[in-house]
Amino acid sequence: RVIVDDIMTHPYWTPYKELAAKAGLAACWSEPIRSSFGQVLGTFAIYQREVHSPAAFEISLIEKAVHLVSIAIERKRAEEALRASEQEFRTLAENLPELLIRYDRDGRRTYVSPAMERAFSVPTEQLIGKTLREVNPTGMAMPETYQRALEHTLATGERSEFEVQIPLPDGNMRTGLCFIVAERAADGRISGAIAVSRDISERKRMENEIRRRERKFRSLAENSPDPIFRYDHDCRRLYANPASSIMSGHPVESLVGATPGDGHLLGADDAARLEAGIRRVFDSGEPGSVDVASVDRDGRPREYQVLLVPEPGDQGKVETVLGLAHDTTAIRDAERRMTDFVANLPGFAFTFRLSPEGHCSFPFASPGVENLAGLKPADVKNDWAPALALVHPDDVPHIITKMTESVRTMTPHELEIRVCRPGLPVRWIEIHSIPLRQADGSILWHGIMLDVDERKRNEAELERHRHHLEKLVEDRTQALSIAKETAEAATRAKSQFLAAASHDLRQPLQAIRLFNDALSMTGLGEVQNKISSNLSKSVNSLGELLNQLLDLSRLDAGMIEPQPVVIQAGDLLGVIGAEFDAVSREKSLSLNLFCPQQGLKLFSDYNLLLTLLRNLVSNAVKYTARGGVLVSIRQRGDRALIQVWDTGIGISPEQTDSIFEEYFQIGNPERARVKGVGLGLSIVKRLSKLLDIGVRVRSREGKGSVFELNVPLANEPEMHATPPATSASPECDLMGKRIVVIEDDAIVAKAIEFSLEMEGAQVILFGTAEDALGSAETMGADYYISDYRLPGMDGLRLLDAIQRHSTGQIKGVVLTGNTSPEQIALMQSSRWKVLIKPVDLSMLLTAMAL
Ligand code: ADP
Repeated sequence: RVIVDDIMTHPYWTPYKELAAKAGLAACWSEPIRSSFGQVLGTFAIYQREVHSPAAFEISLIEKAVHLVSIAIERKRAEEALRASEQEFRTLAENLPELLIRYDRDGRRTYVSPAMERAFSVPTEQLIGKTLREVNPTGMAMPETYQRALEHTLATGERSEFEVQIPLPDGNMRTGLCFIVAERAADGRISGAIAVSRDISERKRMENEIRRRERKFRSLAENSPDPIFRYDHDCRRLYANPASSIMSGHPVESLVGATPGDGHLLGADDAARLEAGIRRVFDSGEPGSVDVASVDRDGRPREYQVLLVPEPGDQGKVETVLGLAHDTTAIRDAERRMTDFVANLPGFAFTFRLSPEGHCSFPFASPGVENLAGLKPADVKNDWAPALALVHPDDVPHIITKMTESVRTMTPHELEIRVCRPGLPVRWIEIHSIPLRQADGSILWHGIMLDVDERKRNEAELERHRHHLEKLVEDRTQALSIAKETAEAATRAKSQFLAAASHDLRQPLQAIRLFNDALSMTGLGEVQNKISSNLSKSVNSLGELLNQLLDLSRLDAGMIEPQPVVIQAGDLLGVIGAEFDAVSREKSLSLNLFCPQQGLKLFSDYNLLLTLLRNLVSNAVKYTARGGVLVSIRQRGDRALIQVWDTGIGISPEQTDSIFEEYFQIGNPERARVKGVGLGLSIVKRLSKLLDIGVRVRSREGKGSVFELNVPLANEPEMHATPPATSASPECDLMGKRIVVIEDDAIVAKAIEFSLEMEGAQVILFGTAEDALGSAETMGADYYISDYRLPGMDGLRLLDAIQRHSTGQIKGVVLTGNTSPEQIALMQSSRWKVLIKPVDLSMLLTAMAL
């Protein structure tokens, strides 16, 4: 408190004396105004016009006044402060990205920051004054967690902090981080609460993303067959994947936390290089790679290329470095092998470049180029001219053509050229290359050039040999074709010989047979009868032989057409039995016929099948000395199996094929005695082929043989065969019959005459056709028998002529000994009966059937 009772004399006022005198002020009493905390807010002063000291009541008045002023000032200030802080709160709340909601103590919203409206599109007015539980016209509902936290804070005054999922009207979910704090009144009681919610959806998403990436990294890294490491700034491994442990044989735990320099996996040099590489990546933020060598769990050396990848954190700074090790052992091996290969090529590997401007060069040539062309890789690196200068002039256009074509088709090309090096012989070179178009428009060929000089020379030599061989083959082929022609001519000659020989043999045979027949009818004594019978047997054998020859030539000529009919298996066996009964009995052999299935019917050509079977049975009897022969016919599926068994001498395995060849007989002294010329089975083979019934033989030497046929079964019962009466005696009465015989061979003619006359016939003989036609006796005969080969006219035409001169149908037969295929064909087509010589009386009588 300052009391100035005389302004004019008080030192405080010296500078302002004049001013105070002008204003008429004489005394000044002043008192400081203090706040309730004692802070000086200002000064209260009272001025007097008279020089005067305050009395006690005046002091007390001043003090009261000062107290009132201090109250007024404090209130004013508090009001201003409140307004300012309210303003600040709003400014803050309105500009915060967070949602800010103020609740009164009943949980009614008293303030909602505009962020709310922005986030939830709900007008602020609709929210103010409402509790969370009150029905919300917009349907916006705060989650239960929030509700409970607010109630908790309002009840206890404790701060709540939690995350909630808030559904947005558009269906999206946001994640909010919420704080609720209590507001307290001056007396400390809870007056409400303020809730602040921050949208952390983005952060959550990022966190999830990071977690997802980490999981992904893990699953990739855990399953990677290559070792993967993560390094920190000290090159310490933060992570090592299972592959790194599997490869090295060290457990993951021992790898994590250690550095490459720990000596576990790498040698000191490699570890130092790797660590330097890792540091470079940390510093530069750029990826890098380091090649290192290691040893696998089995002690085998391995090579790796370690790719070092920076892993930046939020600030973009590299936080960790990933080391992806790739096993390059195989690649490096292949590279080394390739390098070795290229170095040892009998030539060189190259890259040839054709620039867009048409300039040619060898950007790469392996060192072999020196051996091949006497050039260094550098000589042709920028220009191919030095190489081109060595190419044989004739081959240059070839190179250009091939290159142009390769550019056009972009396909690999190959060519051979000659290289002429001064003072050295010309050498052949082969080029293989593959074109690749480059981004800059140039074309690169990667390829090799090989020295093929030796091969070329060998080829030329081979070519000469080939020529020689071809010539040889040609000559040989010609010789063979001549030989073949000769052989064919021989076969033809054989056929002709057979035909001719059989004719010439038949003539005398015919005569002997007929004479013998005639002789036997003249009442012979016992001895003569035996001789005649033996004679007959011999003639029969000879006839048989001739018949076989004839059969064979007919079969060879393809003259025989099978006429399949239904055959009773039983009938077939009957005929065989009748024919071979006597001969087997003679040899004391049993002959058994076996057909278990009654009424089994075959379908084949009766006569041909019988001939075939006869041959087999005849052989069986012939080559069996003890035991017997069994002929069986049994059904096998849709075929009949005919088997001819014997207990004879058998056939050795090597000979089972040969026996079917013509004139083949096993050179066995025992066999030499038996008859036959080795044609029987040749006929069997040809017939079985013609009838398509196959023939097979199984045999054991000294035990016996079985020959088998497979004959089709009949399914058409109506096609019955009437087996010809093979050994039927002719029921033919010649007594008094007039028979004209035209035969130029006098002996045969006599024989026929004799034998027919023995039967009581009257025979008129002519030697030529002319004689016969010229004689009146010829006409009106009961029967005509003519030889085929007559001078001037053949027997068929003679009968035709006689028929023309006769009134009724004449009966006639032609006898022939010519068995050439053409002859047989001609006679088959004739209207007259034809008999092949030798003919015995019974055959003749059967044919005449008079
Ligand atoms: P061949 O007139 O000699 O009997 P084949 O052509 O009929 O002529 O037979 C040829 C050869 O096959 C005979 O010489 C004989 O050695 C042998 N052969 C044929 N059938 C039999 C058989 N059933 N047992 C033993 N050998 C046989």
